[in-house]
Amino acid sequence: METSCACSRKSRRVEVAPPSQVRIGEEEVREDRFSRFRLIPWWDQSKLRSAHVLVIGAGALGNEILKNLVLLGFERIVVVDLDRIEESNLSRTILYRSDDVGSYKAEVAARSVRALAPKAKVQPLAANVVQNCGLGLFAWSDVIIAGLDNREARLWINRCAWKVNKPWIDGAIEGINGVARVFIAGTAPCYECTLGEADWKLLEQRMSCNLLLREANTEGKVATTPTISSVIAGIEVQEAVKLLHRMPTLAGSGFVFEGLNHTSYKVDYTTNPDCMSHFTFENVAEVSQKSSEWTLEQLRQRGAHELGCEDVVVEFSRDVVQELECPECGTKEQVFAPVGSIRYEEGRCPRDGQMRVVKTIHSYSGGEDFGKRTLDKLGLPLFDVFSVRSAEAERAYLIAGDKRAVLGDAL
Ligand SMILES: [Zn+2]
Ligand SMILES: [Zn+2]
Repeated sequence: METSCACSRKSRRVEVAPPSQVRIGEEEVREDRFSRFRLIPWWDQSKLRSAHVLVIGAGALGNEILKNLVLLGFERIVVVDLDRIEESNLSRTILYRSDDVGSYKAEVAARSVRALAPKAKVQPLAANVVQNCGLGLFAWSDVIIAGLDNREARLWINRCAWKVNKPWIDGAIEGINGVARVFIAGTAPCYECTLGEADWKLLEQRMSCNLLLREANTEGKVATTPTISSVIAGIEVQEAVKLLHRMPTLAGSGFVFEGLNHTSYKVDYTTNPDCMSHFTFENVAEVSQKSSEWTLEQLRQRGAHELGCEDVVVEFSRDVVQELECPECGTKEQVFAPVGSIRYEEGRCPRDGQMRVVKTIHSYSGGEDFGKRTLDKLGLPLFDVFSVRSAEAERAYLIAGDKRAVLGDAL
């Protein structure tokens, strides 16, 4: 019969080349997991293998970002997400199964991608990026890729990335539309430059005027599909690949994709000269101590010594709630927790229900009582950066002794 004849001809043709080799011109190319990538002329697999990637968010976008990263051969990844898996996530998350409902997204995501790429070292952090992630994580990264649904975390990532001079890639999705954008620290416009009045209003709504959190739930309920998340996460990771190869990227601009009308275009952002994000540490010195081994006063003295000036102030990476004081009964409660981690209702005095006065701190100048505390007892995360300033100079210290505890396998 004609059909069977055609079949056998096809199968004979396949047998011509041994399955382990492909011939391109005169050159014989080794066949392995990444051999198709090497056919791309500018591709350098070693750049991906050695890159440190910080993935923030393990939802619809984060799942696709992680999947793409490990398929591409990235091996050093930290994934941050505070939330647990819910049933409604399962329609957009290739890395999760029904049995995973209730488990931490970061942990399951790390486990799942290890099954896809056994060589990948993926460290999960079930943490809130704004409150619980030290600047050291950003400093460790070569590129930060975000899959988030809120402006507060994006703004925070933007400021951290600028401080330690690292590029970050943002993605946002809604319905069947989305945007991917790239921001390069030190080169405006940045994410904060893109924020308008309406964005700032939304940002302020989450916090009450005394800095306590009005709503505990940071997870928005945004309409999304697995199709748009794969489109936008695909662009995000592809931009990361280009960035690592020092090729032109979307830096300072966004790629907008409108699924309904099949429109896509690039939008260029403008620089805001008053933007608060435009600050980069001149140098960050790594110190070998752990946060539990150094008091704030010891750190201040080290800075004072190195700056050659007694009159120095230690600045924290973020604001900390030091104390709650009741105006009614005068009771004071020592807190030492990051701003944003205390809910509005917790602000009330347990004795009389009065709303207590919130005292926050963001620096230490030498006389305060809390100088006796070790760095891990201040409400600040491990692997963080402290900046010591005199009137003329500044020196930033990364508490690198915490590296192992935070980065684990990805170190
Ligand atoms: Zn800016
Ligand atoms: Zn009271």
